[in-house]
Amino acid sequence: QTFQNIQQREDRVKAYITLNEDGARSAAKQLDDKLASGEARGPLFGLPVGIKDNIVTEGLRTTCASQFLSNFNPVYDATVTSKLRAADTVTIGKLNMDEFAMGGSNENSSFYPVRNPWNLERVPGGSSGGSAAAVAAGEAYFTLGSDTGGSIRQPASYCGIVGLKPTYGLVSRFGLVAFASSLDQIGPLTKNVEDSAHVLQAIAGYDSMDSTSAKVDIPDYTSALTGDVSGLRIAVPKEYLGEGVDAEVKESVLNALKVLEGLGAVWEEVSLPHTEYAVATYYLLASSEASSNLARFDGVRYGQRADTGNLLDLYHESRSQGFGDEVKRRIMLGTYALSSGYYDAYYLKAQQARTLIKQDFDQVFEKYDVIIGPTAPTTAFKLGAQVDDPLTMYLNDILTIPVSLAGVPAVSVPCGFAGGMPVGMQVIGKAFDESTVLRVAHAYE
Ligand code: GLN
Repeated sequence: QTFQNIQQREDRVKAYITLNEDGARSAAKQLDDKLASGEARGPLFGLPVGIKDNIVTEGLRTTCASQFLSNFNPVYDATVTSKLRAADTVTIGKLNMDEFAMGGSNENSSFYPVRNPWNLERVPGGSSGGSAAAVAAGEAYFTLGSDTGGSIRQPASYCGIVGLKPTYGLVSRFGLVAFASSLDQIGPLTKNVEDSAHVLQAIAGYDSMDSTSAKVDIPDYTSALTGDVSGLRIAVPKEYLGEGVDAEVKESVLNALKVLEGLGAVWEEVSLPHTEYAVATYYLLASSEASSNLARFDGVRYGQRADTGNLLDLYHESRSQGFGDEVKRRIMLGTYALSSGYYDAYYLKAQQARTLIKQDFDQVFEKYDVIIGPTAPTTAFKLGAQVDDPLTMYLNDILTIPVSLAGVPAVSVPCGFAGGMPVGMQVIGKAFDESTVLRVAHAYE
């Protein structure tokens, strides 16, 4: 069925970079044999999944949507890839994205942009746009994405599906091609909250291969989906419903809050006063980390290698040819911010601002169980509308970035339509309290 959907829709949606049809068929055959032999079935038995193309898959091309890695075949699996295999999923293919996960519309893919299945003129969001569009179009049962500043939640919101960014450290980053290591997290994009809980169960947990992996007990996430939210305390930041947020988006979220109120929850307005500094802080820190992480792409070790004799020319030419404009912009910004004369003024300042933003969340969570707001200020915009304007593009992340800087979990769940396009509501929780986040989203859904 999935491949039938792909055949009918993929030439318009463009969610995948690499399809793994032969591999998927032989994996499915193995599962059939397993079934016949009476062996125990894995928890996600037979589900067709798509994996974002910055998560490595042994023997299956992994490009990060970059020309630099257009022929890169990893020799090992990411921890999440192995965990999914152990849960008996079938990998359908590798999903399109913004190059190296830098972007919010998928237009930075160096292959081709993904289109929103709800309206092909519109973007699916990014950077996990392929991951969101594939689920919305039935081209995978669920997918994995990565979220550094909103890249799971914002496309989930634009495509009318559920996207979860777990607490930093809950899911192993081993085998995720690093963009900004202190922010990157892998998470599931699914049709509903229950599926999200099942996938999280399969991929969460300590991994000695990731030095920032957290040693925490993993609860049973599905048992949290009780439907009960009576007495739950919800905080609604006034900064998340203020200027710049589309009126219809705001109305959808307020209606969703009424539903939760009807179920016995109470909500109050609060303030996260440092929200206005979040976008600048994020783009400084993320670009700084990216400039350092992407130094490994030198033309010697991986992928693209320019045809030149001299070593310095080789570095220079390989990087000039292999990277797209947005990636170069971030490397330049990050290198500048980290350079000795400017380090204190930019990088250090941004680290301090990050602490203040995190403290805003800590304070609110002393009194409230969850924070709720829209996932993005608008619904999906038209392809081409913002490509030439990086600053406007960066501002789309204003509601997802603070959560990433604080390292706490959040899920985007559909909460209506505005102008015919889906709207997403973001439920944000305390660190490692995915259970409450999922419980609230599930009760509303
Ligand atoms: N849109 C943000 C950026 O361009 C977020 C990307 C992400 O979360 N990977 O950095």
